[in-house]
Formats: sequence, C-alpha cells, structure tokens
Amino acid sequence: MLIADHSIKQLNKLLKAKEVSVTELTQLSLQEIESSADLNAFITVNKDQALARARELDKKLLEGENINPLFGLPVGIKDTIMTEGIRTTAASQILSDYIGVYDATTVAKLKAAGVVIVGKNNCDEFAMGGSGEYSAFGPTFNPWDKERVPGGSSSGSAVAVAAGSIVFSLGSDTGGSIRQPAAFCGVVGLKPTYGLVSRYGLIAMASSFDVIGPFARTVEDAALVLSAIAGHDRHDATSLSGSLFALDKINPEKKFTIGIPVQYFSKGLASEIENAIRKMIDKLANAGHKVVEVSLPSLDYALAVYYVIVPAEVSSNLAKFDGLRYGRRFAGKVDDIIDYYIKARGEGLGEEAKRRILLGTFILSAGYIDKYYIQAQKARTKIKQDFDKIFQEVDLLIGPTTPTLPFAIGEKSNDPVQMYLSDVYTVAVNIAGLPALSVPIALSQNNLPIGMQIIGPALSEDKMLSLGRAIEALRGEWSFPINK
Ligand code: GLN
Repeated sequence: MLIADHSIKQLNKLLKAKEVSVTELTQLSLQEIESSADLNAFITVNKDQALARARELDKKLLEGENINPLFGLPVGIKDTIMTEGIRTTAASQILSDYIGVYDATTVAKLKAAGVVIVGKNNCDEFAMGGSGEYSAFGPTFNPWDKERVPGGSSSGSAVAVAAGSIVFSLGSDTGGSIRQPAAFCGVVGLKPTYGLVSRYGLIAMASSFDVIGPFARTVEDAALVLSAIAGHDRHDATSLSGSLFALDKINPEKKFTIGIPVQYFSKGLASEIENAIRKMIDKLANAGHKVVEVSLPSLDYALAVYYVIVPAEVSSNLAKFDGLRYGRRFAGKVDDIIDYYIKARGEGLGEEAKRRILLGTFILSAGYIDKYYIQAQKARTKIKQDFDKIFQEVDLLIGPTTPTLPFAIGEKSNDPVQMYLSDVYTVAVNIAGLPALSVPIALSQNNLPIGMQIIGPALSEDKMLSLGRAIEALRGEWSFPINK
C-alpha cells in the first residue's frame, strides 16, 4: 500500500472498515520518511511519540469511536509551528534545541481531530526564503529532480506530501511559502484568507501577512484540512469570528466569471508555464466559465511593497531572539551585554535572517521610515483597493503561481534579488490578505510540475476550492514522483 495512492476519504474508509490500522499507517509513513531521507524534508522525526499515539488511537478505533475524516492520518507540521513536547526550531540554529511548550491552535485542532504528527518539516529559516535552501539543517530537495529546489519557505511540508510519506501537512504563507513550493512539487497548496486560521503558536515572520494553511495531494483533501483548522481563536487578536468556511458550499460544477490579470503574464514568465496556463484557460472557457482579461496596475509595486514592509516586521519580530529572553545561550567570552547580543545573534542566525533584520532596521529608522515604510503602507492600501475593484467584476482571478520552473540548487541562493523576484506572483495576495490556491496543472518537457494560482476575494475559499476541483478534473490524472 502507498499513502500517495489514497485520498483522505479513501483512507478514512479503510480505517473504518478496519482494513488498515492507525499503527500500520503510521509505520508506513515512518518507512517512507526513512526511504526518502535524502530529500531532507524533516528536521525532526517524531517516531516514538507517533507510534505511541497511533496505538492509543487504534484503541479508540476498536472502541468504536465515531471517527472524523482526519482521524488516524500521519501528518507533518512545518517547523515554524509550535508543537508541545516536540522540537520546534524554525530551521534556525538559535532554536536548534528548543522543545515546544504548547501546541499552536492549528496543531491542537488537528490533534483533536485525531491526526498523528510524524515529524516537523524542514523550511527556510524563520520562513524566509523561496527555495528551501536557507535552513540551518541543510537544503530540502525536490523529489521530481533532486538537483532542483523544492521551493520555499515551506519546503519540507511540500516535499513530504509529494513524496508520499505523509497524507497532508501544514505550512505557513507570508508571501508565497505555501503556494510556491506546492507549485514546484506538484501538490495542492492553500493560503487561507488572513485571519481565517489562527496564527497562535506560529513563530512570527511578518505578523500582518502570516497565515497557516495545508498542503495536500488533492483539492478535496486540502479543503478537508482547512475545515478542521479554520475558525475564531481568542488567542489571536487578528482572528476573524463567525463560521466563515463551509465544506458543503464547494461545488465543482459551479461556473464563474474568471479574470486573467495581464500583470501575471509579464516578461519574466517562462514560456512553458505560460502555454500550460493558457491551455487551461481555454479548457475553462470551453467548460462554460466566463473568462475576461483584467488589469491590476498597482501589482507592479507589489514586490517592492512586500520587501519593505516584511523586513520591517521581521526586524521587530526577531528582536526577541537574543540568547537571553529567547534562543540558544552564547557560551563564549563576552565583554558586555551588547557584545553578548552580537555574539549570540551573530552565531545563531543565518545570512538571510540577518539581511532582513538589517534591512528592516534601516527601513524603520528615523529619516527613512517616512520615505520607505509609510510610503509602502500607502501602496499596500492601493493594492488592496485594486483587488477590491476587480472583484466587483469577476469572481476569481487565475494565473501562474511562479514565473519559472523549479530552479537548480545553488542557482539563486547567493543572489537575494533573483531569489526575491521568484515571489513576483505570490506576494500581492498576502499584501491584500486574500485567499489563494495553487493547483498542479501540467508537467514541463523535462518532467517538472507547473502550478496554476487561483486568487479570490476575502473569505471566498468555497469558490476558490470549487474552481480548484474543476481545474483538477480538466487536467485529469496526476501521479506523484513516488509512483514513477
Ligand atoms: N519567499 C518569500 C520570502 O522570502 C515568502 C516567504 C513566506 O511566505 N514565508 O519572503
């Protein structure tokens, strides 16, 4: 049996019929993790705890407990998300031996639904990066081609799902960190509306952008996970109240007015990706959707706005990791407290984290804050308004998730600007707090996955997932590297 061959609903059926036990599924997952260890998708494998938990759940199963769809499923959690009693490093040296002291709300919800956490997924340090190469625990590799990056920052969460070692995973998305690795690894990645899913227990990168969401092999699976983790949380002041997402509203037959933003077909877009996207657009039009070209002029500023506001928030959020209040102690000789901070942070934080802290500190400093930060906030409002206006005319937008195919390991890791440019199609969604979904639609000539991005107005997850399912149906069968 292969985990990758089964949807959540199919696994649920097998568990209910006692054709497979939670322990067997967990063992299967642990074996797959071991046999794909070269991908480096996990920072911590939670073997003993996972097996103990599986045995407990099997008892419940025998007692005839009413099992919900996620019961008994082996899952992975990005290592920026807190897990009680399991090491939580954010892929940073400064937290390399930190054991989580409480569960993030999303983790607590998944546990209540009966999942088995088999491990913590590798990622770019503090979720900063777009390739999975900036981890203190080494790069993650793309299972479709191990010489290439899997995307980032939620690299391991995407890889482990693509490689079939877990059923689904959680990642976080600040500027594309769920959608971009999903596109590069040929899996589904869902970035929820800001505030729909609690951020409590997510180690903050840029608090006004961050959101937790699922990776799964199908849109239906991603929807099931979303329904388990969405909802108000009094521990997160920006969490929205009310029941704002209902699975039963998803309808793959529904027809939409779909906007194609011209800015998503800019010069840097790889022609293979453009062709695949245009082909899918034609199929959608033939299937009865209304497709119209639209323009969002302020999108041209999205990347600049993102790389001003995000480092500003990062520099503030990361200030607490000083080796005293939070983070690994520095044991060497120091002259004074300032010297201590310099050494503890100097040793504990990686290059990219330092780059963003420096940039953010500069942007927020007297004399520059008006010129950069305040200006970027104004542009942020403008981008939001552009989206609001367009969503009066169309239900959803579609375009590519990434401008290029997965690039080679090492190709951009020493060139921050090139790396930042790969976020060009994803950041605007976070700037405006909107939901978006990446769905694999085709393979390139050399067998690399291509992702299509669907963007909706706030809280339109049901529509977005409906269209996502329609796209999957038009695409047809999809197999994962493990099946090859
Ligand atoms: N690649 C983007 C960045 O480096 C996105 C990161 C994210 O979404 N966490 O900022």
